[in-house]
Amino acid sequence: MSRTVGVLGGGQLGRMLGLAGVPLGIRFVFLDPGDAAPAAAVGRHIRSAYDDHVALDDLAAASNVVTYEFENVPASSVRHIAPRVEVNPPVEILEIAQDRLAEKQMLEKAGVPVVPFEHASSQLEIEDAVARVGLPAVVKTRRLGYDGRGQVLIRNRKDVTGVFARLGGRPLIVESFVRFTRELSLIAVRDKDGRTASYPLVENQHRDGILRLSLAPAPGLDDALQLRAETHARSLMDSLGYVGVLAVEFFQTGEDLVANEIAPRVHNSGHWTIEGADCSQFENHLRAVLGLPLGPTAARGHCATINMIGKVPPLESLAAIAGARLHVYGKSLRPKRKVGHVSVCVPDAILRDRLVETVRRVVV
Ligand code: AMP
Repeated sequence: MSRTVGVLGGGQLGRMLGLAGVPLGIRFVFLDPGDAAPAAAVGRHIRSAYDDHVALDDLAAASNVVTYEFENVPASSVRHIAPRVEVNPPVEILEIAQDRLAEKQMLEKAGVPVVPFEHASSQLEIEDAVARVGLPAVVKTRRLGYDGRGQVLIRNRKDVTGVFARLGGRPLIVESFVRFTRELSLIAVRDKDGRTASYPLVENQHRDGILRLSLAPAPGLDDALQLRAETHARSLMDSLGYVGVLAVEFFQTGEDLVANEIAPRVHNSGHWTIEGADCSQFENHLRAVLGLPLGPTAARGHCATINMIGKVPPLESLAAIAGARLHVYGKSLRPKRKVGHVSVCVPDAILRDRLVETVRRVVV
């Protein structure tokens, strides 16, 4: 029986879901407002606003299950289709992930360590919150902040001046600044029967708040750290009745992990799993939401993903690098936009690092 997965969002994550699902005989319908949605290459594209009920009904009617690849889909749209078709991950989690305050509270409730945080809805409240969490502090908008947008670092008392207005006079969260040694992420997956699996922790390196490079497994990764991250992800997913892939972003401080945020979807830091694992994050997400057994998550070697930000280098130069696997999303080019990536996956870490350097000379 052919099954159809409906996807809210039609960006590169949707496209990669499609690329993973087509060999399994899965069909796809994507709802996305853009006229050049990258996912249109692998399924039907319903071009409409996310809150168009006629289009949402069309998506629901065409799908056996609906999922999302874009986090800022209005929760009200998902609530509209939920009585008509199964939706996973559950809409409550989408809603929580859209609000940094609710997200931190949820992590705390599940017993996952987070940085000290406070909420603030006025300049005065920011000043009080900063006094409580201490300096340095990071002030972030509760909603619609990503890739480092919508946040301000407060190094000293003077920096607090005017921050509420500068961030648009919106509800905020104030966090203490973590002196982390590195940023890690865990891609975990939970099926409908509550079974879970996780890929090895990944080290993520950002520039200007945008993820540039992921190394998988994270260099020097040991079993204890992996187990700690998996335990956190599992308690979170179990407490939420989660189904699908979940990404958890952590700061590492010594041997400890502090969760920064989650993404209730497939994630950029898991792209290496396409080449580097027997079952990619995309296939495992599909397996989970369709009620199929989960697939193997071990890394086949030492892998990395190098993101192309804002521009795609000449394909000739990348194609000439043996071992570089190219993914070009077919998006229009704009500064700070993720438009493609290159993955590498080789038997040892030294070779991997060399290959990463070669690719980075081309992908600047
Ligand atoms: P976010 O939008 O929360 O993912 O933050 C973007 C980036 O800002 C993170 O990847 C970190 O590099 C940095 N950052 C965010 N929150 C903190 C924090 N509390 N302490 C230190 N760095 C942070």
